[in-house]
This record gives sequence, structure tokens and C-alpha cells, in this order.
Amino acid sequence: IKRLDETVVNRIAAGEVIQRPANAVKEMIENCLDAGSTCITVSLKSGGLKLLQISDNGHGIRKEDMEIVCERFTTSKLKEFDDLKSIATFGFRGEALASISHVAHLTITTRTKDSKCAYKASYLDSKLKGAVRPTAGNIGTQITVEDLFYNVPTRRKAFKSASEEHQKIADVMTRYALHNSGKSFTLRKMDQDVSAGVSVRTQLGSTHVTNIGTLFGSNVGKEVIQVDHFDPQLHLKVGINGYVTNANCSIKRFLFLLFINNRLVECTVLKKALDSLYQTYLPKGGHPFVYLSLEMPANNLDVNVHPTKHEVHFLHEGTVVESVEKQVEAALLSCDSSRTFYMQKLLPTANTETTQKPTTTSKDKVHAQLKICNAHNNSNDLTPDDPVSHDPKSHDPKSHDSMSQDPKSHDSMSHDPKSHDSMSHDRKSHDPKSHDPMSHDPKSHDSKSHDPKSHDSKSLTAAGLPRRRQIQLTSVLQLSEEVKEKSHKELCKVLHDHTFVGCVEPELALIQHETKLHLVNTGNLSEELFYQTLLKDFGNFAIYRLSVCCFYVSLTLLSGEILSEPDGSKENLANYIVNFLGGKAEMLNDYFCIDITKVGHISGIPMLLKGYSPPLEGLPLFVMRLATEVDWEEEKACFNSVCREIARFFAIPQLCLNVGCTNCWNICFKIEVYKATILFLNVGYTNFKFSLLVPTSMVDNGTFLQLANLPDLYKVFERC
Ligand code: ADP
Ligand code: MG
Repeated sequence: IKRLDETVVNRIAAGEVIQRPANAVKEMIENCLDAGSTCITVSLKSGGLKLLQISDNGHGIRKEDMEIVCERFTTSKLKEFDDLKSIATFGFRGEALASISHVAHLTITTRTKDSKCAYKASYLDSKLKGAVRPTAGNIGTQITVEDLFYNVPTRRKAFKSASEEHQKIADVMTRYALHNSGKSFTLRKMDQDVSAGVSVRTQLGSTHVTNIGTLFGSNVGKEVIQVDHFDPQLHLKVGINGYVTNANCSIKRFLFLLFINNRLVECTVLKKALDSLYQTYLPKGGHPFVYLSLEMPANNLDVNVHPTKHEVHFLHEGTVVESVEKQVEAALLSCDSSRTFYMQKLLPTANTETTQKPTTTSKDKVHAQLKICNAHNNSNDLTPDDPVSHDPKSHDPKSHDSMSQDPKSHDSMSHDPKSHDSMSHDRKSHDPKSHDPMSHDPKSHDSKSHDPKSHDSKSLTAAGLPRRRQIQLTSVLQLSEEVKEKSHKELCKVLHDHTFVGCVEPELALIQHETKLHLVNTGNLSEELFYQTLLKDFGNFAIYRLSVCCFYVSLTLLSGEILSEPDGSKENLANYIVNFLGGKAEMLNDYFCIDITKVGHISGIPMLLKGYSPPLEGLPLFVMRLATEVDWEEEKACFNSVCREIARFFAIPQLCLNVGCTNCWNICFKIEVYKATILFLNVGYTNFKFSLLVPTSMVDNGTFLQLANLPDLYKVFERC
């Protein structure tokens, strides 16, 4: 037996500590962190085999320590063996630099904050080579390692690919960069090829979440959830911190980053436990990203297990692993409700138009339906008036003038003088401040705006188009305000951002919003849309002239048609309605563009939605309800109920599902419904997007019904 030469011993030992460039980098990063650095830059050539340079801005090495810094078992971090129990630095063995100097050419340039200049020294086999020379340099340390394993040819040959070594270094850097978020880490590739450049970079002051996104990809970054637990009751006193991906994210390889008391370590038991935990949540073949930092009392931990310190032993391993597993699972479950799913883009072969206008097929059907309709009804029942032609007529200066100038005649028009006064057409009253609905000042009817001249000249724009009237009735403004107040934000959003899918029934449509599919009642929505349009464009509608004589039907007849026998004398009631509405004719015409002739003919209705005409079957009922259901006593209530009645008449009729209901299953009626729906679908759904405020009452009245939610479906698929 012969005693080995010291250089041989050291070289053998060096081979243990520095197995490959990545080990050297890890050791040196730890030294930088021990020195309190906040900026660490690593530069590599040939994966660190040719050149490996690490610079930091830490406290540096004093000149007097430079002589022995690379000798084996020289350290500034440990004095007694018992210090190991409470060791807080990464290094303590004083072996790293010594080992590197045995297998590479090592140069250190360093400067402490008290030193006037930096000092540079080279080392070989842990001994100083030459003198320590003063040089220029910043506070901190720069260690240059060249020609790693130059004197261990077998080891050198074992490294087949420089890029593999680079990757391993990048891996170590990435892990330290994440764990030490807030400090800046940079890895540079100095090779003179296309791959040169920065491969890892984190910024000073960045957070863990930002760094996860930067280092591991945004798909991981946006799906991480925090694990943060410390149970002081736990006899182990283990703090569990970190970030793990939720069940939305599944990656090909299990990315497991474990730090125990800030040391990058491996723990196979914990890794296996977590991987199997995620199998329950992730699709087959998918893996998570898990970054955990455990803190435990130093005396529970044995760090001196392996020369590279990549393995540690700790007491109560089983309990700790179980506790970590529990915390990760709790975090996973807590975020289950917020799982999001990203929709696949349309396949290139799919026709985009089909999705944007999914009604194409239903439209084709509609054409067929419309033809049937036309056979039953003349489709030219309605002819929209040119708004210009409407305006002068509905605001006939003469009639208007005479009405407003003669308070008596004005009163005589109204069924109940008081009620009419309360809804005076006085334009002054359009000013919310001055408006007093109950004021009864006949002079006020002589408002400027009723002056025929001003009406004529000011009602047309330079282009000859009717000027929009400024209606500022307090009551109308209040009603509009109420609509806003009562709107349901989430449903408004659903409607605003929806994609129309198609119709199930004429009045039931499917729309998609984000990952949810809703069944919406177009009938209800259309009614609300018309109501809100009436308030918004109050007094500013174009008119539809009922041009076909069959619609110049007297109110008597129309009302008579729908009054059943037991209601008393049909004719009396009909006459009453004619007289009553006759008294309201001017107001109905002025504000709502409903034209009622003196003999009781209806000759015009407002155009609320361009391109849509209401189902005229509803006209008799509308007229009757106008006389009987409207509150004609109080201004606000009156406008509200008139608007509601018009909206009801314009809305797509609801087909009740009762097969016995002769009304709804009457073929003509059904055709009318289809006709109205189709007209509405063409123009209505875009209007929903832009202008409809969904009232809160629609949350539970069956207007919106959520049919499916992709995350729920996904859960079912997963179980399968
Ligand atoms: P250890 O880290 O176990 O003490 P090393 O061989 O890694 O042993 O380092 C030896 C000594 O060199 C350290 O104790 C430290 O005082 C000093 N040192 C090494 N690298 C740096 C650095 N980047 N900044 C300041 N001091 C350093
Ligand atoms: Mg060290």
C-alpha cells in the first residue's frame, strides 16, 4: 500500500464535486448568492467546457484571502462542526473552488467595497499561480474557468455535445433564477455561431409569477396557483411555499423544482407522490409544473449527504411528503371552479361565414316560409314612409298650431282634460328642470317650438333630412335611467359578446358566450329591445304607412273581432275605444308615430327597427290594450305603459307549447311568427349586441337558460 500523491487525491475528489460544467456553475452561483449578489451573469463557450465565466456584484474576496481561497477546505462560512446544524449559507465545505482549480485553469478577479482596486489571480491545483495583481474592476467577483477537464481526458471525451452541457447549465440557472426571483440572472452563449446570445434572463425586482412565465413559457405562467402554508402546530414546523400549475395546464415532462432551505435538491419520494397526485387531474400523458420551496428547522435536515449537496436527508420524510401532497391538492381543488378552456380556432376547411351567420340554413327555410306567408298575406302591407315625408305630416304645423293655440280644443281632444294636461306637448316641458307634469298653464302650449315657422325651418337639416328632436321630458329620462339601473351587468356582457349559433324554435335561439351555451327567448328580448328603442328615440321615429286597404280597418271592427260575446255589447265597447283613442290621437302621433284617423282608422305605426315590421295579426289586440291597459292618468306611467304596449305588439309572438291552443297552432299564426322571427333575426341580433340592456328580471324569467358549460363537459370527458 502506497500513500497517494496529494494532487492525485485532489483530482479524484474534484471529479466527485465537479462531474460536469453544470456542477461547477451550481457551486459558483451558490457562492455568488452567499456573497449577497443581486446580479449574476454566466457566460459560456462550448457548453462551459472551453470557457465558463461567472460575474456577480457581491461583497467580493479580500486581497489577503486570495492566496488560500482555492485551497481545499478553506472557507469563510464554517468554523466548528456544530455550525453545520445551523448553516445558512450554501457552501461550507470549501471544496468547490479547490476542485475546479484541479481540473481547469481558474482566474479570479475580485474587489471588495473597501478596496481601492480589484485584484486578479490565477490558480492551478489549488495553488496560486504567480502573484495577486491589482487590476481594474467593479465591486464583486468574476471567476473564469477555462478548459475544464483539460487534464482528465476520459472525462472530457465523455461530453459528447456542448449544447447538451449548455442545456444542463441553463436548467440550473433557470431554477436558481426562479427561486431567487427579484435578483437578476443572465446566461449568455458566447459561441461564434447562430445560437449565440442570451438564453436565460430574469429582471431585477421581478416576481415569481412573472419569472415562471419568462422561464417556463406563458402557458405555464398563466395557469399557476400559489401554495402557501405554514402550520405552527405541525411538530415538523415545515413551511410550504411555491407555485404549481392547475388542472388547465398539462405539459409533456414533469417540471419539478424543489428547494429545501433554499438549496436546490432532489427528492424522489416527493416527486413520485406529486406526479401520481396530478394523474387524477390531468389528461393521460400530461404532467404539471411544480415549484416548491420547503423551509424546515436546520436541525431536521442533513445537508452533508453528498459532495454536490444535491441530495439532502430530512427527518420525518413520510410526514413531510404527505403534508406537501395535501397542500398541493387543496390548492388544486380551490381553483377548480375557475378552470378556463380555450376554444380551438376554426379548422381551415370550415367556412367562416357559416359560423358568423349560422342562420344561413334557417334562412333558406325561411324563404320557403315567407313564400307561404306571401300567399296568405300581401307582403306589401307595410310601406315604410320616407322619414322626411313623415315629419311634416305628423307635425303638421297647422294642426299642431291650432291645437296648441287653442287650449279649449286641446282639452276637447283629450278624454280626460287633466290627464292630457299632465302630458302636455309643451316643448318647454321637455326641459327636465322646468317641467311640471301637473302644471296647467294653457299659455305654455304656445311654446317656441310649436311655432310653425321655426318648426319648418329647424326641423330639416341642411341636407333636407329631418332634424332630430331634442326630447328631454323628465319622465322619459327617468324611465331610461331606470332601464340602466335595472340592467344586469353579466347578462349584458353575455349579449354584447355573444356569437349567434342558431334557432331551435322560431322564438328560441342558441347563443354562445365564452365557454357557455345559452338558450335565449328571442321573443322576450325583442320586446325589451323595442321598449328601450321607444325610450331612446322617443318622438323621433320614422313611420310605416299601412298602405293596403285591408289594414285601413276601423277600430270598431278590429276591436270587435277580439271581444268575446260575454264581454257585453261589442259595439259599445268598440265605439268607446274609438272615441277614447281619438282623444289621444295627437299625442300618439306626435310621440309614437301612431296615426289614428278621426274615423278610427289606423294608418301608420312607428318604424322601430329598420327592416322589421311587426306581425300585424296583433294589431287589434294592440289597439284594444292601448285603450284599456294604459295608465292615462300620470305622465311617466302613461309613457311607460304605451311603450310597453307598442313593444308587446312589435315583439316576436310567443308560441305556447300547448298543442291544444288553437290560437298558437293556427297555421297562419305560426307562419306569422316565423315571418316576424326571420325579419327580426336579420336585423335584431346585431341590435342586441350594441344597444340592449338586459333587465335583471330576465335572470330568472326563462329568457336566458344556460344549457352547457364547456368546463363541466370537459370534466365528464375526463372521467371517460
Ligand atoms: P464554500 O463555498 O464551501 O465556502 P468554495 O470553495 O465554494 O467553498 O469557496 C471558498 C470561499 O471563497 C468561500 O468561502 C468564499 O469566502 C469565497 N468565495 C467564493 N466565491 C465567491 C464569490 N463569488 N464572492 C465572494 N466570495 C467568494
Ligand atoms: Mg461554495
